[in-house]
Amino acid sequence: MSTTFGDQSLTIVCPSNGEDVGTVRSAGPAEVAAAVAAARHAQESWAQTSAQERGRYLHAMADALEREKERLADLNHRETGKTLEDSRGGVDAGISTLRQYAELGPLHRGHSLRGELYAADYTMTRPRGVAVALTPWNDPVAVAMGLIGAALVTGNTVIHKPSERNPHLGIYLGEVLSAVLPADVHITLTGGPQVGVELTRSAIDVIAHVGSTATGKAITLEAARTGAHVIRENGGNDPLIVDRDVDPQWAAGQAALGCFANAGQICTSVERIYVHHDVAEPFIDALVTEATRLNSSPGQPLVDVSHRDHVHGHVAAAISAGARALTGAEIPTGPGAHYPATVLVQCEEDMAVMAEETFGPVAAITVVDSFEEGLALGAAGRYGLAATVLTTRIEHALQSAARLHVGTLKINGVFGGAPGGSAQPHAESGQGFGYGPELLDEMTRTSVVHIEAGRS
Ligand code: NAD
Repeated sequence: MSTTFGDQSLTIVCPSNGEDVGTVRSAGPAEVAAAVAAARHAQESWAQTSAQERGRYLHAMADALEREKERLADLNHRETGKTLEDSRGGVDAGISTLRQYAELGPLHRGHSLRGELYAADYTMTRPRGVAVALTPWNDPVAVAMGLIGAALVTGNTVIHKPSERNPHLGIYLGEVLSAVLPADVHITLTGGPQVGVELTRSAIDVIAHVGSTATGKAITLEAARTGAHVIRENGGNDPLIVDRDVDPQWAAGQAALGCFANAGQICTSVERIYVHHDVAEPFIDALVTEATRLNSSPGQPLVDVSHRDHVHGHVAAAISAGARALTGAEIPTGPGAHYPATVLVQCEEDMAVMAEETFGPVAAITVVDSFEEGLALGAAGRYGLAATVLTTRIEHALQSAARLHVGTLKINGVFGGAPGGSAQPHAESGQGFGYGPELLDEMTRTSVVHIEAGRS
């Protein structure tokens, strides 16, 4: 992938086989300005439609995604290396999110209060205006549909800037959605970070960013100048804490899922493991067996070679600082951006593989002497997205809930959660609600209306 604002192009190669996927034009400053003006103009009439009508449009968007699922999944697969099955799953998740917001939009309600006997006070919400959605490549359809659906159903118009790593998918998604919406209610702009920067410096009302922490911080600084409302769902460094009393084979299965699914490129992937020494040996053996099994076939690649360099950089630095690789840890020969499932032991807290987001198929392990030690290490650090604890002890589950300052705590299961679940990421993992019914609050402003009887 190469990109500059000046030459206005993005070239994508398939990370599975190194073949050329294609080149697309990147938007320039004039197109950004035109998109903001068009979205602003369209918002006036879009805000006049009823929430119910906007909900019907969201159902039409979901229907359009159903029809185009295969092509969208294929583009996702070719641009990012996500498996076809998971790419289809991402479109399905996007469809169901749109349908949820289609139904929740008309139910988004305020409060009424009673002060004086002959007076009424109530709250009402109104759209913020023009929303910009800046989305990542690792689950591009599902994430975009949440932000776009919530913004549209509450009466905002949206400018979507998909990741520079999946521009063909982003453009096609935009065409599919715009075909069933009024003109300029939803606009797609393609390009690299520069297009995102230009958008965040424009006169817009909401910036919804799902992506890395470094980008989220830069966006927050820009928004301090413009006054735009910022919603940030950013990176994590999620710990997995394995207690002494769990079945080590089962725990290793959970760890493998958490570390290696989607080649470790999930915001809530397990990034660091603290395992109690009583179960450490069978746990590590089982995890290495599973990693070796996964490595016997090429599997899912990383998104591109530059990201692979980042992942391998963390692994290589850990090994030179004293960690030991039990499997993986070598860049394979051949085309594409493959990287093996890797198990590292004797990891230390100051290694990047433990302290930062690696976002690759790496299980970085520290053996601890007690649950309390694992909990203290898991609670440390600058991120606060999610954490998993595997334990049979209710007191340890409750201690974890009290001491792990994360948006999502999972007890005895690395992934999963109820539909519509939403939490605020803590610390450097973001701010606001990027998902669930609460995202409708983020996309709106609340006014209070006070009415008195008056005199005639
Ligand atoms: P990224 O922040 O680099 O890119 C996301 C979007 O922001 C892209 O469209 C990009 O072009 C744009 N962008 C980049 N720099 C910008 C800037 N300075 N100003 C404005 N826009 C800018 O993130 P990524 O690499 O695409 O995605 C991977 C990251 O996303 C990981 O850190 C992962 O944990 C995180 N993520 C978080 C969640 C969550 O819900 N917390 C979900 C998915 C991914």
